[in-house]
Amino acid sequence: MFSKLKKAVTLILAGAVLLTVPQVPAFAYTDAPTREVKSVKASAASGSSIAASGSAIAVTGGSIVRAHISAKQDNKSVRLTVSHTDGKTGNHITGYQIYKKTGSGKWQLYKENTKRGTFTVKDTKVKYKKSYSYRARAYYKDESGKTVSGKYSSSVHVKIGLTVSKAVISAKPVKADVKLTISHKKAGKISGYAVYKKNKSGKWVRRATLKKTGKTSYTDTNTTSRRKNTYRVRTYYKADGKTYYGAYTKSVSVKVAVSPVTKKITDKKSAVYGKTLVLYQYADGSMVEDPTKYVDEDSFQKYVMYVNKAKQYVTAYGVRDGKLYPLRAFICSPGYATPVGTHHILAQMRWHELMGPCWGQWCSKVASNGIYFHSIFSSQHNSNNTMSVRGYNNLGTTCSHGCIRLQAGSAKWIYDHCKVGTTVEITNSTGYEPFSKPVIEKLPSWHTWDPTDPTAQKYCKAHKCHKYAK
Ligand SMILES: [Zn+2]
Repeated sequence: MFSKLKKAVTLILAGAVLLTVPQVPAFAYTDAPTREVKSVKASAASGSSIAASGSAIAVTGGSIVRAHISAKQDNKSVRLTVSHTDGKTGNHITGYQIYKKTGSGKWQLYKENTKRGTFTVKDTKVKYKKSYSYRARAYYKDESGKTVSGKYSSSVHVKIGLTVSKAVISAKPVKADVKLTISHKKAGKISGYAVYKKNKSGKWVRRATLKKTGKTSYTDTNTTSRRKNTYRVRTYYKADGKTYYGAYTKSVSVKVAVSPVTKKITDKKSAVYGKTLVLYQYADGSMVEDPTKYVDEDSFQKYVMYVNKAKQYVTAYGVRDGKLYPLRAFICSPGYATPVGTHHILAQMRWHELMGPCWGQWCSKVASNGIYFHSIFSSQHNSNNTMSVRGYNNLGTTCSHGCIRLQAGSAKWIYDHCKVGTTVEITNSTGYEPFSKPVIEKLPSWHTWDPTDPTAQKYCKAHKCHKYAK
């Protein structure tokens, strides 16, 4: 190669005068031909009358380093790494030309640049499931624009997006819900996940599309306690307006069954000390907060209400065969004057005038000295949108004159379920309670109605602020 090169070196001078200089040892093989060209040019100029300006050297293909190219695809683009193979620095070249071929099409110049070392190019103009080939060559361009190219590298072939990574799932019950933890195997990229659930007749139904590419979760809040909840997931990849799917995971099944657990209360500080409770629990061991849909309310012989003055909430129990079924917990505002002890509901009124004057809804008289369960008071008679927002936001604190203030929905529940004569136990118990204290969302000052009041639903609808929940 060395000798061949020597013979091939040609000196071109401006004005199309071509001189062949067969022996220019200094130029023969160096990584800095430009510098050498200058010295040749200088000697030529000094030894003749020919003007030397614009002189340049041309190099034949054999003297140019051979390019090397590698390619990696990630379903969306191809990352090309270009370098050269000869072990030389490559300083004598002007740059590289990269050629691209789509499928079995023709080679086309894709990119030309003036880099000499190793560099990368990202080709994003590729389509999913198409094949591409690339090759590169180094070139040298002289001052007159004449280009001499090196040999092509061997070509590399890539097919875009052969693998859509497979999803991985696990599932566990969280109260009545099922939480799926979803990720995918590393190979290949994805655009998201599709979650499927088996329906009653055993058919797979797509339940959700998650536009997440990393580890994520999906909570199914629409579960059934009658049979297993069964899921599977697959990844998808979107490219060129099409969706490609990874393989389905194996299916996973979770039970969210609610079961009754009988428990005798041994905590002496509890208001229900010594009583036998039937608690409804989820598969994960947590308490069902509203077990009314799991128990037959008609089977209760009666109800009993426990008002915890110290903790500011009420627990409603159904009574059947001497056992207590905790059904609901209601946040309340008692007062310091609320009388501790055993009471009975004496009378019930849909609206009733309270101290103020103000009016409460769904009132149940608990004690003869004017103690009622009632909704947060309104400033106008029979008016459900003049409610005291302050009173509502104070629920859960001790602030009444003695009445037990409740959310409208709670007062209505008592009004609807508890007949005159129903026992109301008022205590300052610090012990066991089946439910924890409910938490309510505070209202803004303009929200002068109770969001749990079914007769005030229309205001929430108009303001698009709350969804009515029973
Ligand atoms: Zn509202």
